[in-house]
Amino acid sequence: EGLQGQIAASSVDYRIAEERWDRDGLEWSGRVQAALQQTFHLQHFRPLQRAAINAVMSGEDVVVIMSTGSGKSLCYQLPAVVSGGFALIVSPLLSLVEDQLHQLKKLNVYAAALNQATEKEEAKTIDTAILDAKSPLRLLYVTPEKLAKSKRLMNKLEKAAEIGRLKLIAVDEVHCCSQWGHDFRPDYKFLNVLKRQFKGVPLMGLTATATGNVLEDVKKMLGIEASIVFRAGFNRPNLHYAVEEKPKGDMGERIAEIIKERYVFQSGIVYCLSRKDCEVVAQNLRNLGIRAAFYHAYLEPAAKTSVHEKWLSGKYQVIVATVAFGMGIDKPDVRFVIHHSMPKSVENYYQESGRAGRDGKPATCILMYRLADVFRQSTIVCTEQTGKEKLYEMVAFAANDSTCRRESLAGLFAEDWEQGWCQDACDVCVRSSSPSSSLPDEVDVTVEAKLAAKVIEEARSGSSTSGSEAANGRLTGLKLVEMMGKKSKRSRDFLEAVVTQMLLADMLTEDFHFTPYSIVSYVVKGQAYDRWAKSGTSFNRRIRVTASPLKTTTRKRKVMVESDED
Ligand code: ADP
Ligand code: MG
Ligand code: ZN
Repeated sequence: EGLQGQIAASSVDYRIAEERWDRDGLEWSGRVQAALQQTFHLQHFRPLQRAAINAVMSGEDVVVIMSTGSGKSLCYQLPAVVSGGFALIVSPLLSLVEDQLHQLKKLNVYAAALNQATEKEEAKTIDTAILDAKSPLRLLYVTPEKLAKSKRLMNKLEKAAEIGRLKLIAVDEVHCCSQWGHDFRPDYKFLNVLKRQFKGVPLMGLTATATGNVLEDVKKMLGIEASIVFRAGFNRPNLHYAVEEKPKGDMGERIAEIIKERYVFQSGIVYCLSRKDCEVVAQNLRNLGIRAAFYHAYLEPAAKTSVHEKWLSGKYQVIVATVAFGMGIDKPDVRFVIHHSMPKSVENYYQESGRAGRDGKPATCILMYRLADVFRQSTIVCTEQTGKEKLYEMVAFAANDSTCRRESLAGLFAEDWEQGWCQDACDVCVRSSSPSSSLPDEVDVTVEAKLAAKVIEEARSGSSTSGSEAANGRLTGLKLVEMMGKKSKRSRDFLEAVVTQMLLADMLTEDFHFTPYSIVSYVVKGQAYDRWAKSGTSFNRRIRVTASPLKTTTRKRKVMVESDED
């Protein structure tokens, strides 16, 4: 209850901070407005930009949480431009820094970057500019490792702070500070010196994603516990969220159906897990008459630009992409984002699906879910520190067919939530308010849970009749389901749903094996299993409504290209 209270309080804090700081009539308001129009050639501030700028210009430490593409950079670029000195920007991604330098150059703002790739001559020029009161340098971009490794640079910057030239420090992608963030970077640890070493220089952290504990962690790490947090409206009322069970082996056929039924002339993104999936799904969509093109990290830069541009202009209706497609997308009229497979975390899901409906008009986010994708993702993220926890949060979200999707998201992002806020803009709410169907009740799946354990034991002891199919007596999750199917009247989908619930409850656990070529996930009994088995209680779970309980003859689908899925 205490936590609930805190969560609600912090949400209120965001709104109070915004109301307090988003205003005109401050000493610098004239200069700020002029820079917006004359330097940046923009007409209006977007939500929270002016508030964050005002707060940091009055000397406060600030954290800005806004989705990708919503304009975080301006929150430090503009203060830097009107500061009379320069801002230090810590940014982990050289490609993004290059983009910004390029844009700032076009706007006639002097910005520079110091990193491993900086030429000697240029480094010298920058060195001089740091302490030269007459230098027009406004933004200096550095990587965290550059700061950590160069004492000399730190000394210079300290002097710059003393003589009042260093006006602001911005840490971009600030969630990288936290081990709980989705891409923790050890080099960010060094940034805890900033606040101590540059006393009196306001610090601004920016990120697109920060769950409650990540935010607290980041503030503590940077020594800005008292900072003002600006957080963009987390609830996107125009987005309709839905999770669909992905047909077995589907490589875009279902997506083609959805697009043809509902989005004939509209633009969208389909996210896939791998490069190969992108190519296959794009080809299948094309075969089914949809103007689709693929986009992934292995494309040549020129091809990337060309695909992106043709999608912007509408020549391609659908872009089929890996997560490589994301940074800097700014297409307002994306009407649907479909995930062909599950992302690795809820933060990723929120960010990727959030690229729909930027124009505020209705748009749909569909997540296609199937157990097989859990194992594909888990073998990718299992080497990341909190990879599996994050993935399982995502799995729990997808497998939960009885809680409003928005409510689930709000819970995960430590946002407050009240009944009725969704207004039937998610599959669960739609189902629960329709008279013909209802939400799934809990079912007793004790029999299936015990069957799973039995099948695993039998395979292990080699007594299984189909023992040759198991790898050294070990079973992958899908093999487990298949073998359970031979001994159960339940449908495959139902058994998959049970295995999912067992994984989430730690009744089963993934056991990763590293071969020279790949990582394989086997499924073994989890810590909770024996405790449960001894307790003699039943295992009751809500099972996805789409998982019909009993075996039926499966519909045949036309698969254009074989998938390598299972
Ligand atoms: P983020 O860092 O939040 O992902 P960026 O700072 O890269 O986003 O900005 C994304 C895009 O939005 C850029 O093309 C930028 O020029 C544009 N933008 C930022 N602020 C505004 C504004 N007030 N009005 C119009 N466009 C803006
Ligand atoms: Mg950015
Ligand atoms: Zn809902």
